[in-house]
Amino acid sequence: MTHPFLDLAPLSAAHFASIEDRVARLLSTEQDVVIMQGEALLPLEGAIRATAGPGTTALNVITGPYGQTFGDWLRDCGATVYDLAVPFHTAVTAAQIGEALAEHPEIDFVSLVHAEAATGNTNPVAEIGSVVREHGALFYLDAVASVGAEPVLPDAWGVDLCVIGAQKAMGGPAGVSAVSVSERAWTRMAANPHAPRRSYLSLLDWKERWIDGGRKTLLHAPAQLEMLALEACVERIEATGPETVMSRHATAAAATRAGALALGGGLEPYVYEAVDAAPVATTLRTPAGINASELVAKALAADPGVPLAAGGGTLAKEMIRVNHYGPDATPGAVHACLAALGAALAESGLSADLAAAHRTVTEIWG
Ligand SMILES: *Cc1c(COP(=O)(O)O)cnc(C)c1O
Repeated sequence: MTHPFLDLAPLSAAHFASIEDRVARLLSTEQDVVIMQGEALLPLEGAIRATAGPGTTALNVITGPYGQTFGDWLRDCGATVYDLAVPFHTAVTAAQIGEALAEHPEIDFVSLVHAEAATGNTNPVAEIGSVVREHGALFYLDAVASVGAEPVLPDAWGVDLCVIGAQKAMGGPAGVSAVSVSERAWTRMAANPHAPRRSYLSLLDWKERWIDGGRKTLLHAPAQLEMLALEACVERIEATGPETVMSRHATAAAATRAGALALGGGLEPYVYEAVDAAPVATTLRTPAGINASELVAKALAADPGVPLAAGGGTLAKEMIRVNHYGPDATPGAVHACLAALGAALAESGLSADLAAAHRTVTEIWG
């Protein structure tokens, strides 16, 4: 008997290349797209180690926990790093980036997270991209949490290294990821004696042994199950229409934000301005004296299936994450999350107007 996950034929090089082309189309990019055989942290780390070294001066923008990690990698590579940290309840502006570049003209690398699922904010990459391009720095972008939820356009925005993963808004697998690489970025890597070579982290290996050879021979056996899942998930986005998928995420975010306010009980959007709030996930702030982790635990006890989580690390006390992405970017998931939160608030002795919350969500969804 055949099994859906087992007894698969090996994935051919031509099939692998066609999946890369499909991902490139999703990003509207002419750049080389390399699909990496691991979770998104693989290309995120690989791209930094390939381009940064002791001669690099980096502007590292911190709008959430991932920015922190990128700064650590850059320092580990020997780069001089200027951190630009903004409060997690806002987004960074192109003007702030422009000021930092003017203050340190030697900056030749800028790292930025597009949307942060962990903090719920999203940054204006199009505007930032033109400032970075004008300065001439290489532009590295983590678009893992934005792709599928909002436009991600590396070519139009001048992004040199754009990393995506399928496990958030794309509703796909976590085990493979991709990075689009500009000519400028390849040149920088080739000139970097510290870039990983003959290594699982190496992007240059894929350039030299896969792309430059006309994509005829794979470096090693690909993760075929994850590759097929990635293909299926891009196919589903194409069939549904990327605009429809993105608008479902934007509506889920707007409905969650307004629905939480209508619910009451002291819950508030964590990100102050709606324009700075990511379509992929909505973060909420608990009222003083109410521990977010405990509230989420109560909500999950009321309905174990809902995509709710407490914030990570120090945010665990005050932040609730409503992860309305992928298959959960639906009215049903948003209603269920607010109902579970309403039950948890009531159990904590706070008032919650569930009818008003449901009405608000229904109105926004139209
Ligand atoms: C989710 C996410 C990733 C991938 O991390 P996982 O914890 O493995 O899902 C990378 N960057 C950002 C900004 C993310 O939101």
